[in-house]
Amino acid sequence: MKKRILLLAGGQSGEHEVSLMSARSVLAALPVDQFDVTPVVISKEGRWLPPTQTLHALETGEAATGGDLVLHRAASAEGYDAVFPILHGPMGEDGTVQGLLTLAGIPFVGSGVLGSAVSMDKVMTKQVLASAGIPQVRWALAIRRGWQQTPDAVREQAAALGYPLFVKPANLGSSVGISKVSGPGELDQALELAFSLDRRVILEAMTSHRPRELEVGVLGNDAPVASPVGELSFDAEFYDYETKYTEGRATMHIPALVPAEVAARARDLALQAFRALDCAGLARVDFFYVEATGELLLNEVNTMPGFTTTSMYPKLLEAAGLSYSDLVTRLVELALEQR
Ligand code: ADP
Ligand code: MG
Ligand code: MG
Repeated sequence: MKKRILLLAGGQSGEHEVSLMSARSVLAALPVDQFDVTPVVISKEGRWLPPTQTLHALETGEAATGGDLVLHRAASAEGYDAVFPILHGPMGEDGTVQGLLTLAGIPFVGSGVLGSAVSMDKVMTKQVLASAGIPQVRWALAIRRGWQQTPDAVREQAAALGYPLFVKPANLGSSVGISKVSGPGELDQALELAFSLDRRVILEAMTSHRPRELEVGVLGNDAPVASPVGELSFDAEFYDYETKYTEGRATMHIPALVPAEVAARARDLALQAFRALDCAGLARVDFFYVEATGELLLNEVNTMPGFTTTSMYPKLLEAAGLSYSDLVTRLVELALEQR
């Protein structure tokens, strides 16, 4: 009998449109002889759209409005064998939807509440990975709450990290709200932007030289495997939103042209991080590689990475021998596994 799959897409984060693109690819690739797939687009207001509006949103890539409150619709998810929440960013990749589906008792693709929530938060991720001994850049946390830190204390932390530094909202993706700050004069503006998007903000020392950016795909539950290493190259100050999503701005290299020892280290660290963060199903683990010093620093773990047919994660798994359609099938199998 065909498995009934609920494909959730869109969502409330700044990555709504990116999610719709990913979802179109997944929808087209789940083999129809095995799966009966129902897409539901979640509007930017967090409402679950009925079928006609869902199809319209998927076709046009536009953030539709309307729909039903999530809790009214969640009950209707009951008839499904599994959910594929192809949602990026807060309110989708951060454990919230995963909590809802866990309560509803429906298996789903990807990490559970803990792995999703911790991996979404750049500060929590750094703390967990530090305790696992995984190399990372130096960083500091800024919280917009008077009892936690004064503005002067934040400036001191920044000075201790040194300039240039990066200021980022703790819970976001796609480089939204991230600034590269060259000196103290630019700090307030960067903090303001980041705090407008999140209560928690991370300050990060920049790598000692401009880093190369390596990415590893991980697939599995209890016995995860790491893909070959990929690299992104681009001509920009850093890998910002525009560079990420403007056609032709960035180039993907698979496999990355790095020494075999560096590739082996990246794959090993990716698996260690996947386990330390209690991830499941899939994750794309991103690194900074400083060629001059040989340093390999783990930057972040994305538990629901970009998933169009041309995105890095599926391309990495393709290099490992798994076609896009085999990959989405495997992910559903992993969701159905006891874990
Ligand atoms: P996101 O989750 O939005 O992708 P990242 O933490 O990956 O956020 O940062 C986006 C990009 O900013 C990185 O791919 C890299 O180009 C640049 N960057 C971020 N942090 C640093 C850092 N500490 N040193 C050097 N470059 C950085
Ligand atoms: Mg990210
Ligand atoms: Mg990133």
